[in-house]
Order: sequence, then structure tokens, then C-alpha cells
Amino acid sequence: MKIKTFLGLSLFALSSNAFAENCQIDVSVMDAMTYDKTSMEISLAKCDKVTVNLKHTGKMPKTAMGHNWVLTSTADQVAAAADGVQAGAENNYLKTGDSRVLAFTKLIGGGESVSVTFDTKALKAGGDYTYFCSFPGHSFLMKGKFAVKA
Ligand code: ZN
Repeated sequence: MKIKTFLGLSLFALSSNAFAENCQIDVSVMDAMTYDKTSMEISLAKCDKVTVNLKHTGKMPKTAMGHNWVLTSTADQVAAAADGVQAGAENNYLKTGDSRVLAFTKLIGGGESVSVTFDTKALKAGGDYTYFCSFPGHSFLMKGKFAVKA
């Protein structure tokens, strides 16, 4: 019971001190078609902007095992990924100016890191969003839920 009380108090303290900030999410990838996170969650009340830091801890070059981080609505994900393959490596496997793409990093290879910072204004609380890697063939396995809380 004592633990429960303590938890309740600290949650209250957190929410009363909540302020909008640039929220950071770290995600890493290896020489395999997987992110180290299967889902992410942000809070619109807490985050004006979100920065996603993608780190490739593998050794393979981006031509063979490139990865990026792309955010779309879940409804748009499959079509955006398919158009991305057509766009080619020089465009990070994303159609240029694709309005379905809400945020993305460039493609990186082993040993590289990349970040993207984006405004959360375009996101809706409770909306259905998916992040994925647009390297050809990767998005079937390499994706996760991006949950947006109020
Ligand atoms: Zn990938």
C-alpha cells in the first residue's frame, strides 16, 4: 500500500509540472530489419516538437542495409512505402514532396546516426500513425505504432 501511495503522488507531481518541450526519442537499428522499439508514444501536451534520434549500430553500408525512420498515418503507410521504392536511394526511398510523409530521416548505413525534429501540430491525439523504414523490402517487418496522446 505504501508503494501505491508513493506512485500516485509522483504521478500527480509530474502532471502538475508538465510543460511543452522538445521531446526526444532514441531508436537504434542493426544489420537486420528491425528497430529496437516496436512502438513509440508521445504526448501533445508535453511535446511541441519531437526529435527522433536514429542510430545504426551495424556494419553494413546503406546500399545493402540502409535504414531510415519515416512517419505516416497507418492508412498511408503501405502506399507511401511503395512509392518510396520507386523514388530510389538518392531520394531516401521516399517520393519527393510526399504529403503523406509527416516526418522522415535520411537513409543511413552502419555506424551512422541521424535525427529529425518535427512539429507535433499536424498530429491528432488518438490518431493512428505508423513509423517504418522505407528501404526496399524493409517496411513489411520494420515498422511500429506511433501513439499520440492528448
Ligand atoms: Zn531498414
